[in-house]
Amino acid sequence: MTSLPCADLSSLLGRRPTLESLTTSVWDAVVIGGGITGAGILLEAARRGLRVLLVEQRDFAWGTSSRSSKMVHGGLRYIAQGELQLTHHSLQERERLLSELPGLVERMRYVFPVYTGKFPGRWPLTLILTLYDWLAGIRDKRWLSKAELLALYPQLEQRRLRGAMSYTDALTDDCRLVMRVLQEAMCEGGRARTYTEVTHIETQTTGSRLTLRDSDTGATITIQSKQVFNATGLWADRLSGTAPVVRPQRGSHLFIAAERLPVQDCLSFMHPDDGRPVFIFPWKGQTCIGTTDIDHGTNISTEPSCSNEEIDYLLKVTNNELPQLHLGRADIISTMAGVRPIIASGKGRDPSKERRNHLVWQADGVISVSGGKLTTFRQIALDALHAAGLIDTASYRHAHHDRTLRCFNHDLPDPQQLSHPRVGMAQGAALLEQVEWILLHEMVTHLDDMLLRRLRAGTLLADAGLSLLPQLKPLFQARLGWSEQDWKLECERYFQMIERYYRIPKHD
Ligand SMILES: Cc1cc2nc3c(=O)[nH]c(=O)nc-3n(C[C@H](O)[C@H](O)[C@H](O)COP(=O)(O)OP(=O)(O)OC[C@H]3O[C@@H](n4cnc5c(N)ncnc54)[C@H](O)[C@@H]3O)c2cc1C
Repeated sequence: MTSLPCADLSSLLGRRPTLESLTTSVWDAVVIGGGITGAGILLEAARRGLRVLLVEQRDFAWGTSSRSSKMVHGGLRYIAQGELQLTHHSLQERERLLSELPGLVERMRYVFPVYTGKFPGRWPLTLILTLYDWLAGIRDKRWLSKAELLALYPQLEQRRLRGAMSYTDALTDDCRLVMRVLQEAMCEGGRARTYTEVTHIETQTTGSRLTLRDSDTGATITIQSKQVFNATGLWADRLSGTAPVVRPQRGSHLFIAAERLPVQDCLSFMHPDDGRPVFIFPWKGQTCIGTTDIDHGTNISTEPSCSNEEIDYLLKVTNNELPQLHLGRADIISTMAGVRPIIASGKGRDPSKERRNHLVWQADGVISVSGGKLTTFRQIALDALHAAGLIDTASYRHAHHDRTLRCFNHDLPDPQQLSHPRVGMAQGAALLEQVEWILLHEMVTHLDDMLLRRLRAGTLLADAGLSLLPQLKPLFQARLGWSEQDWKLECERYFQMIERYYRIPKHD
């Protein structure tokens, strides 16, 4: 692996810079939005020697980028919908990320049971998967006989079961992927600040003037930048200066204890109601079921949550395919809802039939980018830089063959411990060591930054990590200087979030 010397990460991404320190001079570029798209743009711009700043209104990956299905994939569904180019790009990126980020992006076997008289049958699947593997440059698909399949999953519905097609894709921890790209961007000279909202952009002759508001204190400042990238995904219409293009579509997941729903592969089923694919997969020691795909409506100001209707939809397909398990609402540890920023076709299509491509567009000196996938973040970042004229066509083409993640810092915790998608949270001393490292290196500002995104305790543990709080308190107080009162307020804020957005809703 190529190693670049990296500066001390704790001084770069550890503590939030003060608002005032951002006003010192004119930035070459400001990126708004700290999801995977913003992180990718920050990295590609910093790598080209630009003075670039990223600002995020909440925590890194707080938006859609911590609420995805965690798949680094081509998307079998997209190939079936004829989206060959999107599938091809995604598969190329999948293979590249697998080779660059072992431990964080992991190959995973997908198992697609086939039933007599039910679409898709063995031969259509074989055809699609041959093309899928060919586009990725691998040969992984295989037929599993009924006996082989039932040896793995005896709980499967056996009536008319013929066997299953197996193939591979990849899984990750989306939030940790964002953090990894940000760390790389910091090593390349980028800067970032969380809990900093852009409230206004004013176009000037030589660039733009942006008003930033500290989301916690309410303090505001203005900064100057030659270029502005609006990478706010779902919220892109608010800052783009153009007519709206984003159609918010919610997707929810359920987390179930692995003992109750044990799977070692990603099982793929077609939902009996609408024929949409639903996945049941192992994630960090528990099992995840997802996802739904429904219009979210216009309320994008509050955190999304899973509705009772979505819970019923996901339990229905699970009990249909694994009837012996009798899975019920009492088995749900937590729920997680995310909202896809889909580029609207304007044709009133069924939500799941809208295309998943990204769009880069510009007006009044702002380059906006939205849509797309976690998997294709590099492609999206390069498209945005190209549109801004920051890279010419030749280097744009060349960049597609570069490594994205080159910098290797020995201070980073072992990815096998912190980021391995199939290993649950660390425990005991190892957990405290990780918490200490994260507090030093990952700009944690609130308790939920740690528990919901960096550690995922909020979704993986039945008690949402409440039993860990006494051990965590002295670390937060020592590292972040929190008083007793600060700790109490942070705990209350966290309890409320968990109750409102990550548990079974009491009513819709
Ligand atoms: C249910 C679901 C499942 C998915 N599954 C997959 C999958 O398996 N594989 C895959 O490749 N893709 C998947 N996706 C798609 C993928 O998650 C998204 O395409 C991707 O995360 C979008 O990233 P983003 O950075 O554009 O947006 P976001 O992650 O939402 O980032 C935008 C950020 O901008 C910030 N922001 C907004 N306004 C402002 C402002 N004024 N000032 C400062 N900051 C602001 C927000 O707080 C937010 O953090 C899924 C999406 C969903 C919803």
